[in-house]
Amino acid sequence: MNYVSTRGGMKAQPFSDILLEGLAPDGGLAMPESYPQVSADMLESWRALSYPELAAKVLGLFVTDIPADELSALTARAYAPGVFDSEQVVPVKELEPGFSLLGLSQGPTLAFKDMAMQFLGQVFEYVLTQRNSTLNIVGATSGDTGSAAEYALRGKRGVSVFMLSPFGRMSAFQRAQMYSLQDENIHNLSVKGVFDDCQDIVKALAGDLQFKSQWHLGAVNSINWARISAQVVYYFWGWLRSTTEAGQKVSFAVPSGNFGNILSGHIARQMGLPIHQLVLATNENNVLEEFFRTGIYRPRGSDQTYATSSPSMDISRASNFERFVFDLLGRDGSKVKALWEQLAKEGQFDLSEHLPRFKEEFGFVAGASSHQDRLDTIAQVNQQHQTLIDPHTADAVKVAQNFREAGIPMLVLETALPAKFSETIEEAIGQPAPVPEHLRGLAALPQKVVVMDADVAQVRRYIEEHAPR
Ligand SMILES: *Cc1c(COP(=O)(O)O)cnc(C)c1O
Repeated sequence: MNYVSTRGGMKAQPFSDILLEGLAPDGGLAMPESYPQVSADMLESWRALSYPELAAKVLGLFVTDIPADELSALTARAYAPGVFDSEQVVPVKELEPGFSLLGLSQGPTLAFKDMAMQFLGQVFEYVLTQRNSTLNIVGATSGDTGSAAEYALRGKRGVSVFMLSPFGRMSAFQRAQMYSLQDENIHNLSVKGVFDDCQDIVKALAGDLQFKSQWHLGAVNSINWARISAQVVYYFWGWLRSTTEAGQKVSFAVPSGNFGNILSGHIARQMGLPIHQLVLATNENNVLEEFFRTGIYRPRGSDQTYATSSPSMDISRASNFERFVFDLLGRDGSKVKALWEQLAKEGQFDLSEHLPRFKEEFGFVAGASSHQDRLDTIAQVNQQHQTLIDPHTADAVKVAQNFREAGIPMLVLETALPAKFSETIEEAIGQPAPVPEHLRGLAALPQKVVVMDADVAQVRRYIEEHAPR
């Protein structure tokens, strides 16, 4: 299996070669040359597998340059008991017959990004060891992604993490989660500025090509193909746990921001998994809901991007969306390239001529929720099903109600646990979310963090002084 760019300007390369890269050299995103196909018989033969065994099968279709037994060892470590707070790794939690949550938030940071990051941590270490090479991950976070990356990469050979976060803008829970890590290869830099200042510093360092190559800078952002492919696994898992025989259909509802999670569902469907609908749910930042309703893609400026009660979905543009457009346009890189040039010039593009295909050919439907919708949904699910859900999951539960069909199970992806967003839970039900047993002492642990100005030179010096040579 080789990978090409959505903009047609990259020579085909195997998995390990695109693993450590961000954007393709032509500015596009890596995509498999074609989607591996999974037959009904193959799928049936996977029913008895554990989550790590299934992950090795599905990922083995994309990762053909790592021997199968080695890949199995990586998925066994990534999804080991003890890493995830559920024997099943991904439990299916039934709310009522035909309507369930797919529990993706049992990992160390209580959000679904652990699912992909834990695999990424293993495969990074493997490839860097093979190549006798090192990598310094430099990133900016406002919460979820940074902590998932740190937990996945702590103590890994050959990798160091320098994670910038905005000083005074992280919740106490987020701070305790990240800053309590004492591993030598994890560096928390608290920057006196907002998230965008952190992001700008990362961009400035990555844009300094001499510094970048001298210090082996890398990223673990949401466009990373290893993350996308690791997410494909749980769509297969969810289908296997909700069906009893070949050909039965299942729909998935996905709280969406950067279009990474639901893109993996699209890929699973293209591989032959019998998915009926992919229900895309957004909050008030409805760039994607608008596209699937109108065919017009119109990213927003920061003045039109709202801070909502489902903050991990507060995006102005959807970084992975280009990969879907590549498929929509028959995998024609020159057409994608032209569209993104138009986007840069005009701020939007119009694919409404393809509107009927979104649902008929690709199974996509969409909806958006408001703050009040999420509060009502959290309260309603708590009352009716004695189950507490977080505001991101609530967004998808709300939207999914409109698309339920008799005889077709609907799985809502649970992308975070309520303990992470306790303020909103309190607003919805009048009391805070319970903190999981194993995290009760977190706030009292000593924290390792360095505070600095929003100054590229200071961050650069810190990396030079602390990166392994
Ligand atoms: C990142 C995140 C999302 C959005 O996922 P995308 O892959 O960006 O669409 C939704 N919910 C939670 C809790 C997240 O952390």
